[in-house]
Amino acid sequence: MAENAREIETVWPRGVRCAVMITFDVDGETLWTSRNPDNWNRPGNLAQGSYGPKIAMPKILGVLEKHGVKSTFFIPGWIIEKYPDMAREVLARGHEIGYHGYLHEFNLDAGYEKEKEIMDRTMDVFDRILKIRPKGFRSPLYEYTDATLSLMSKYDFQYSSMMMDDDFPYFWTMDNKATSIVELPTQWMWEDGSYFFFTLSKPVRRGISSCKQVFDIWIEEFDEIYKNGAFLNLLFHPQICGRYSRIKLIDDLLTYMLGKEGTWVVAGEDLARFWQKRHG
Ligand SMILES: [Zn+2]
Repeated sequence: MAENAREIETVWPRGVRCAVMITFDVDGETLWTSRNPDNWNRPGNLAQGSYGPKIAMPKILGVLEKHGVKSTFFIPGWIIEKYPDMAREVLARGHEIGYHGYLHEFNLDAGYEKEKEIMDRTMDVFDRILKIRPKGFRSPLYEYTDATLSLMSKYDFQYSSMMMDDDFPYFWTMDNKATSIVELPTQWMWEDGSYFFFTLSKPVRRGISSCKQVFDIWIEEFDEIYKNGAFLNLLFHPQICGRYSRIKLIDDLLTYMLGKEGTWVVAGEDLARFWQKRHG
């Protein structure tokens, strides 16, 4: 799209070379229960999830504060209810919280009424505990249905972040009409789970990688995105990326990216608002 400086200036705010989102899906225990309901009866497995909200989150908030960047945290309603102080702290530090289901449902065949029920229940949690309405939407499995789209519009979401079909943000179309809802696309290559997600409960995943290797992959991506004036949407899970070596990986990445002039690290709500204003 934008290969020279002049074109890049029409895409991003003046002085910005590329936009980067640092996002966190705070799934906690629901990452295990949504993949396999038997895990409700396996406290040992669930402990891998609770590590995220309990132990990883303070470290993550610390590293973001060190670099002075604002992030978006997508948190299931059940996690907000179980760890309300953690969620309030995210807002108190100036970050954004977005929608991520109630129990991280993989509700691909649920139908409109069921999806609405899940969303109503989660919106009630946002109202009661956080006193906010989420502007951002991320489905638990990067997937959606016609019902999802119409509910996003009904509940006045400003943006979603779950698709993998563009290098830049874009506007959703519904019923062949452009909407003002922005999609902020991501990619499996940009998420920690692809390299680090390890679980022996079914479905089994055996991801353990060197942070040096993952750092190299992400920097190769960032350098080319920077050169092309495009968009990087990194996705982390506190229960996975909260270990000390991976916190250092986030720290090193931010140091590298912010060291390049014109890198705009931005939260979803701010990027969506900019995109609507500039490109809507
Ligand atoms: Zn998730």
